[in-house]
Amino acid sequence: MDIAKVGIVGAGQMGNGIAHVMALAGYNVLLNDVSDDALKAAVSLIDKNLDRQVSRDKISADEKHAALSRIRTTGTLTELGNSDLVIEAATERETIKQAIFEDLLPHLQPHTILTSNTSSISITRLASRTDRPEKFMGFHFMNPVPVMQLVELIRGIATNEETYKSCKSVVDRLGKTAASAEDFPAFIVNRILMPMINEAVYTLYEGVGSVRSIDSSMKLGANHPMGPLELADFIGLDTCLAIMNVLHDGLADTKYRPCPLLTKYVEAGWLGRKSQRGFYDYRGEIPVPTR
Ligand code: NAD
Repeated sequence: MDIAKVGIVGAGQMGNGIAHVMALAGYNVLLNDVSDDALKAAVSLIDKNLDRQVSRDKISADEKHAALSRIRTTGTLTELGNSDLVIEAATERETIKQAIFEDLLPHLQPHTILTSNTSSISITRLASRTDRPEKFMGFHFMNPVPVMQLVELIRGIATNEETYKSCKSVVDRLGKTAASAEDFPAFIVNRILMPMINEAVYTLYEGVGSVRSIDSSMKLGANHPMGPLELADFIGLDTCLAIMNVLHDGLADTKYRPCPLLTKYVEAGWLGRKSQRGFYDYRGEIPVPTR
């Protein structure tokens, strides 16, 4: 199926990155969010990130302007009904995602493919509550979207081959690489990554190391480009906690229990970079550990 118009729900960290790469690849993008401020911030961030690509000679100034001209924003979800492909990238909470699909469904065209960028929630369950489980799948980008090469494609139990092939061709056109994952909690990347991050938080909680010593140990000792706590702040601690809860509930194994310290940070509203404070405090010139 030919995809030309892409609707994106949620203009946060992921939604703006997805809009950026889609527009650059020539798709017409309609970006939706409940927050007007989030939409404004997304467009100005896309502008800034495209500028960076121009200054590094990755794209030309003309390509930047063409990409920006392909992005429209709307506060009205139902306007996305005209899309060939919808990518839902709203907050990682199942009730929010379900409400979005319920509102959107009556306005979609019969051919529209519906996808979710969820990091962990069951694609089969999300799909089963729609009128098109065979045209529903997981389209999981990595953060930051313009930089990261991988997209996980997750088939629900009912997803048909045509839908998979259409999504795979979008990933190809973006110049990214698709990895196919089965629909089990947190799929591949987060099934492996999140327990490591959670274990790093336990290491901090139990006083085995400080924020700085844990991060430098994993950078210098395991050659990771970022420390696990720095990475958790980058992903968003609310998202990390939500994924751990999905692993814990979905696999019913205590090895996935979220660290109480992670819960405490989220309860404090210290969600990482996006709220200026997490395992590091980002309000000054340089990040300062909060423990
Ligand atoms: P975020 O908090 O940065 O952004 C979420 C956005 O969704 C906010 O702007 C919020 O206003 C908006 N929103 C909430 N309810 C909405 C609704 N009903 N309609 C429209 N917009 C709504 O979160 P994020 O990090 O961009 O994560 C979004 C999704 O992407 C989640 O499912 C997350 O699991 C997934 N994801 C996140 C990462 C990551 O590293 N952060 C990586 C891959 C996938």
